Amino acid sequence: MDFASVLERIRASGPRHRLDIGDPDLPPPPELLEALGRARDFRYGPPEGLPEFREAVAEVFGVEPGEVAAVAGGRLGLAALMWKFRRERLLTPRPFYPGYLEIAEVFGIGLGFVEAGVGWLPSFSERGVYVVNYPNNPTGVVLPRAKVRELVDVASFVISDEIYRDIVFAEFTSPAELSSSVAVVYSFSKVFSIPGLRIGAVVGPREVVKEVAKFNKATVNVPPTPVQRAVAEVIHILPRRRAEVSRAYAERARLAAETLKLKFVEPGGAFYIFPEVGDGDRCFEEALKRGVSVLPGGLYGSKSHVRIALVEEAPRLAEAFKALNEACAGGP
Ligand code: PMP
Repeated sequence: MDFASVLERIRASGPRHRLDIGDPDLPPPPELLEALGRARDFRYGPPEGLPEFREAVAEVFGVEPGEVAAVAGGRLGLAALMWKFRRERLLTPRPFYPGYLEIAEVFGIGLGFVEAGVGWLPSFSERGVYVVNYPNNPTGVVLPRAKVRELVDVASFVISDEIYRDIVFAEFTSPAELSSSVAVVYSFSKVFSIPGLRIGAVVGPREVVKEVAKFNKATVNVPPTPVQRAVAEVIHILPRRRAEVSRAYAERARLAAETLKLKFVEPGGAFYIFPEVGDGDRCFEEALKRGVSVLPGGLYGSKSHVRIALVEEAPRLAEAFKALNEACAGGP
């Protein structure tokens, strides 16, 4: 089953619990909504992003504004970077975020896989340009610092998808801390619960950032300017927001560990768990019959698992977990 047919099955079935796509349920920060409400300027802006947005993001990352480009969602940043490195050997650990495959397919470029081992930790030995994502979708794991070192030592460049870097409950090391041959793809979709507003950033070496701006110019041209202004205005709330969302999702992961009778690696961040269920397609179907939608692991390159997005409040999640125990663990 491909993504489109899985989503079609879910829509047709109308489940009570939607734990499939990674659409955050926590309300966006009121400060951001107020700033957006005040937005009155809807003109074009520069393809690399508005100066105030680049400055705001640069301060968060401790870099110069020239090392930041605005993008219309992390996905655009990933596309721009995979396009830039299309002639290199592109590699990503499996299980993987399906977006990488979708981008590679549209661009007609190859993507090699590195298998993950115990605790979903890959061994990095092949030279190439790596696309990595930690905290990880679908497993929730983060790499220990020694693994990040192993990665930057073999990689000619790292595209580090850090869309979930603000949702962490374990120590997180960005490859950018250990090497300068790294571009970080960042997004406000998850931390601010605003995936529909399409705003993110690429943070990396100036010459790479220039290529991202070129890609913007050729495609979206200008990432949404009112959203850039609003985000720049409220960026100071990021540390508090980061703590709040991390606490909320960590509690849900704990509830899953206590309630679900399925085996999974404890997540260190993001808001997913990726339990082993024997047959992921079967678990998906059985769960759907009981009013819960999850995603079959095959979409992520691992057929014996399912991905559960922890995007409901605890009481509803507890109800969904009970149904999942019946559907996929053979008992209530
Ligand atoms: N990377 C990963 C790993 C994701 O899970 C997502 C969203 N589900 C994205 C990138 C893209 O996010 P956005 O384009 O909304 O910033």
